Amino acid sequence: MTQDLPGRTEVVIIGGGIVGCAIAYHLARIGITDVVLLERRKLTCGTTWHAAGLVGQLRATRNMTELAKYTSELFAGLGAETGQATGFRQNGSIAVALHPERFEELKRGASMARNFGLEVEVIGPTEIRERHPLVDLGGVVGGVFLPKDGQTNPIDTTLALAKGARMRGVRILEDLPVERILVEGGRAVGVRTPVGELRAGTVVLAAGMWSRWLARDIGVHLPLHAAEHFYVVTEAIEGLPRELPVLRVPDECAYCKEDA
Ligand SMILES: Cc1cc2nc3c(=O)[nH]c(=O)nc-3n(C[C@H](O)[C@H](O)[C@H](O)COP(=O)(O)OP(=O)(O)OC[C@H]3O[C@@H](n4cnc5c(N)ncnc54)[C@H](O)[C@@H]3O)c2cc1C
Repeated sequence: MTQDLPGRTEVVIIGGGIVGCAIAYHLARIGITDVVLLERRKLTCGTTWHAAGLVGQLRATRNMTELAKYTSELFAGLGAETGQATGFRQNGSIAVALHPERFEELKRGASMARNFGLEVEVIGPTEIRERHPLVDLGGVVGGVFLPKDGQTNPIDTTLALAKGARMRGVRILEDLPVERILVEGGRAVGVRTPVGELRAGTVVLAAGMWSRWLARDIGVHLPLHAAEHFYVVTEAIEGLPRELPVLRVPDECAYCKEDA
């Protein structure tokens, strides 16, 4: 391991979840390849492997929506580019309203989506049933359908980003935790690991919910904490059509999707 850790790099990234790997990939794509990513265990072992993998496009602002649209475009081509399948597919999503007020909110969201250039349809109960035959329509007022929404396999997508970064020269070292961010003159200048120090022009902290502790050690308050998110994975359901849209029921704080 020691021989793998260089003494200096242009950029060091702490954390091998989807965020750290996406940063490594995009740095490499713009020609910044003197990059070392350090993961304390294995890539995706943090929060990323838990993710449901929903890839939604509508966000609260135009810039966030543009980013989400870019993400879909990126995921659509990443498997072919890297040779690592991602599991990405655009089977659409339906958000269902159980109250008139919620339907109003969804319709406003649909107007905003159109304004942002997204494909969106406001649909009634009959069309909801056509697109998702298993929905119990009792109490359903209406909904919106976003045909370009989709889902991906978060582990495979992260591995594809990591592969795309490695193909361009990024070094990714697993089983190597960062113990502390090194600070000199009020500036992050590298990291300390069990096998030595790595000096860097830029330190990127992408350790997810663990970032808080690394930041705390250098006097920076990051207001991040874990929150519970319950989910149920069923056995295969006989007769369930594949490629159904993701179903979101905001009034019940719930969503359903096909798992891999
Ligand atoms: C049940 C569930 C469902 C979700 N569903 C979705 C969804 O449908 N769509 C969506 O977009 N998002 C979803 N999310 C959120 C998504 O999973 C996270 O936003 C995302 O995975 C965060 O990625 P990350 O890289 O920031 O963090 P992480 O994946 O946690 O990566 C951080 C990495 O840093 C490493 N690390 C920590 N400390 C150190 C250290 N000292 N040195 C080196 N490495 C270190 C960890 O081991 C870890 O691998 C879901 C989350 C959960 C829990």
